[in-house]
Formats: sequence, C-alpha cells, structure tokens
Amino acid sequence: MTDLGHVWLVGSGPGDPGWITDIGGKILRDADVVVFDRLAPKELLTFVPDSAIVIDAGKSPNQQKLSQDEIHETLISYGRLGKKVVRLKGGDPYVFGRGGEEAKILAEAGIPCTVVPGITSAIAGLSAAGIPVTYRGVAVSFSVVTGHEDPTKPSEQANWRKLATATDTLVVLMGVDRIDLIAEQLIAGGRDPQSPSALVQQAATSDQRVVTAPLSEIAQAAADHAIRSPALFVIGDVVNLRSELNPSRLAPLAGKRVLVTRSRQQASIFVESLRAEGAFPIVLPTIETERRVDDQQLSATVENLLAGKYEWIAFSSAVAVRAFFELLIEQNIDVRQLGDIQIGAVGKATSEELRSYMLFPDIVPENSTGEDLAHAILTRCVGSEKSILLPRAENADPALFNVLNEKGMHVDELTLYLSVPPAIPSDEMLKVIRSGGLDIATFTSSSTVKNLVRILGDDRKCLDDVLIACIGPTTASTARDLGLEPDIVAKEHSINGLLQALRIYHWSNSTV
Ligand code: SAH
Repeated sequence: MTDLGHVWLVGSGPGDPGWITDIGGKILRDADVVVFDRLAPKELLTFVPDSAIVIDAGKSPNQQKLSQDEIHETLISYGRLGKKVVRLKGGDPYVFGRGGEEAKILAEAGIPCTVVPGITSAIAGLSAAGIPVTYRGVAVSFSVVTGHEDPTKPSEQANWRKLATATDTLVVLMGVDRIDLIAEQLIAGGRDPQSPSALVQQAATSDQRVVTAPLSEIAQAAADHAIRSPALFVIGDVVNLRSELNPSRLAPLAGKRVLVTRSRQQASIFVESLRAEGAFPIVLPTIETERRVDDQQLSATVENLLAGKYEWIAFSSAVAVRAFFELLIEQNIDVRQLGDIQIGAVGKATSEELRSYMLFPDIVPENSTGEDLAHAILTRCVGSEKSILLPRAENADPALFNVLNEKGMHVDELTLYLSVPPAIPSDEMLKVIRSGGLDIATFTSSSTVKNLVRILGDDRKCLDDVLIACIGPTTASTARDLGLEPDIVAKEHSINGLLQALRIYHWSNSTV
C-alpha cells in the first residue's frame, strides 16, 4: 500500500533565501517532490535532498512553463503516489499566488495539504528597500492590490479611484506593465500627484533596484530605468523615510554582494552571518571539502591534546592540516599549547602546509602514502605504547590507521571533513563575477585564492574594483603573489575575525 501523500504550500518569502520560515525550510529538506515558481529564491533548492524530483513551474508572465491546470495535476498525481510534495511559492502562498485555488483543488481531490505562510513581498520587499509600510504619524493604514487587472475597464477604474484616497500606503503588486494607467487613475481618484512613490524591482535580492518619483512622474521614471517585473509599486509618504531607513545607512554590510569562496558546507556559518547583516553572499565554492566535525569527538580530542596525551600527530593531506588548524583557531588554541608533540606528514604538500603554520614535520616518508607514513612513525616508537592523533577526512584511506593500530599504537581519529569532487561553478554564478556584480571577495585559505584565480583565468581583471578581504596573512600573501592586492586582512584569523574586519572597514568608511 502506498503511503498517504501530503502537499505543503510553502511560502518562500520575497527573495532572500534566509527569509523562509523555519518550518518551511525543514519541510523542504524532507521533500520527495518540489514544484517551485519563478519568484521563489533559487538558492532554496540547495536545501532539497538530491533524491527529490524538482519541477520548475516557471511562472514568468511571458513563458508559463506549466499551466495552472498542469500544476494542479502534478500536485495531485504525486500526492496520490504517497509523496511528500512541496509547492514552493514566492512570498506568502495566499497573497496573489493562486495558493487558495491550489489548496481547494487538493482538498477536492482528497490529498492532505498544509499551508505554510511566508513573508509577503508586499511588506518585506518594501522594508528591504528602506520603506516601512506604516510609521507613526505618517501612515496608519495600508492596502495591497493587484495591478494585473486592466485599469481601463470601467469597473476597475472605479476601484482604483476608490482606493486612491482610502488608504495611507498603497502597495501594488504585478503593476509595472500598467503603471502609467494605474498612476493616472489614482490621480483621477484624488491622490495628490506629488505623492511620494517608489518602484522596488527584485526586492530582497542582490539585484534589487529602487526608483523613486512623485506619483505623476513615476511611469516615466519606470520607463527611464527600464524597471521590469517582479516589482512592487508603492505610493505614500512612507517612501520619504527611505532617506533615513535605507538598510545600507543602518548597517555596514547591508546590500553588499560578498563572494564566498570556501566549500559550500564550510561556508554556511559565514553565509548566515553575512545574511544576518543584510549582505548578499554569493557562494562560489573553490575547495572541494565538506566539514564533518563531531562535537563530542572534537571536545574529547581538544581535552586530550591540552592534557598532553598525544606523542604524535599525523597528517595525511594538506586539507587536513588546514582544517585541523582552522579548528584550533575556532577553539582558541594557540599552536604552542600543542607542546613538543611530534608531527608526521604524508608528503610535500602536507609538510608545506604545515610550514605555513610554522611547523616543521619530524617525519615525511619518502613515498607519499599513508602506509609509508605509518611505518616511518613506527620506526621511532619501538618498544613503547604511544598515543597518536590522526586528523582526517571521513573518507580517508584507512591504511595509516590500520597499520598503526595493528602495531599496537593507541590511535585516536579526528574526523574533519569529507572530500568531494570539485564543484564546477555554474555559468550563472560566474556571470555575476564577470559582470562586475561584486562588492567584496573573501578568501579563507590560500587554496581559495589559487583556485578562484584558476577558475577565472583571463577574467581575473573583473576583480580589479572588488574589495579583497583575506582571513589572514598567509592567504593575503598568496593573494598578493597572484596579483590580488588585499584591502582587508583580518586581525583575528577566523571567520568571525574576517566578518568583524569587514564590518569595521565599511562602518568607518561609511558617510553616516
Ligand atoms: N505571493 C507573493 C506575490 C505573488 S504575485 C507574495 O506574497 O509576495 C507576484 C508579484 O509579487 C510580482 O509581480 C511583484 O509585484 C511581487 N513580488 C514578489 N516578489 C517580489 C520581489 N522579490 N520583488 C519585487 N516584487 C515582488
């Protein structure tokens, strides 16, 4: 018997992927099928399990990829197959998103359905542009209306004219194509032609654009600036507050487009911190590792390390060295606290990486294999039971561990990461960099600099006007060697240190 299926109509929020609700994100991570529309942020698809079926309903005004009937059929048929189906919709599902119709059709078809609200662009899209929808003494009411209907129809004309003076703030969705007619009808209905008004295109995304003008001039301004859908059209005195409440005046990193070059998984803390500052992180992973640290294992290892339990530590890759020392930095452990621990490195790259941390390995075997490293270490440990720490990848070659273990050494492993094939950046992502769409590029290790330079090839000059921020001097010197002059080098060599350096730089350089 098939499971009882379920469809969730999930609101994604207007643009920033961090603005989906907690429960919406959880449901997305557990989905079998995802049917998403044009306005839902594409980054949210990274939440979806690899095994899930992803369908682009692509509801752009001109290229309707799936008709509304086809969307209904898709939801019903996967629901009947017992699947967990997510219908991901821009903003809130019940604000002009045809979510009501979809829920009704599912109810009629006998498919369980849950609506998970999202924050609507009608309110949050404005705040992303620095326009509060209400403000004491300025606006005590607001209305949200669709501009999709034809304002030249007599019944619609009447509606616009009534709305013209009925509310303080008026927010029009789907109205850019008819903005001239809408503005005309509002003025005809008694709205002051000098009313402040604004258009916010692609609100809460890194491509957000805002145009302001008095109501009587807004249609011309929209044409001059080639404003396109999706855009919000807002009329009301609250628009004037933008001069003080524009997010970029309120916080140093707001609106900044920040390139993050670490591997996707390692980047997550940094990305979340940037989003929390109102910045737009653009993740272009240049290293192919996924962090895999078990908190219990880590705290046990740190305790052992600081208690001087280990006589040896053996590194089987340069990435392990880097990951290990990044962890030490996070744990506020000074390298001197490792004491006189002996260090083994599998080969040249690993030992060079250690040297960049001012550590000179005691043993580097002639052949760069885990087995050879194990034998080399064993020659130094005859006759005594020694403890050794192996910081490693989850999918590392087990030879090093096996040989040491068989010979009676006490081996503790510290899993740091999982190696995965290098991610190939999408053209869409590279386009952002090439088109000069970046404000800041961040580098958290030498390899991120080297790999980005390699990926960009001749296009490297597109970084000329971009602020270069490095986690520390090693990374900075690699950047300098490769022709990228660092503007910021974090004093504290950690992700938080880098974030603070960026914040201070932009706050002290701001005109506020
Ligand atoms: N359910 C959505 C609205 C769907 S109607 C919500 O609650 O936000 C589609 C219209 O919403 C677009 O034509 C545009 O007017 C507006 N819209 C949605 N997302 C937007 C965004 N990020 N920026 C500007 N307008 C947006």
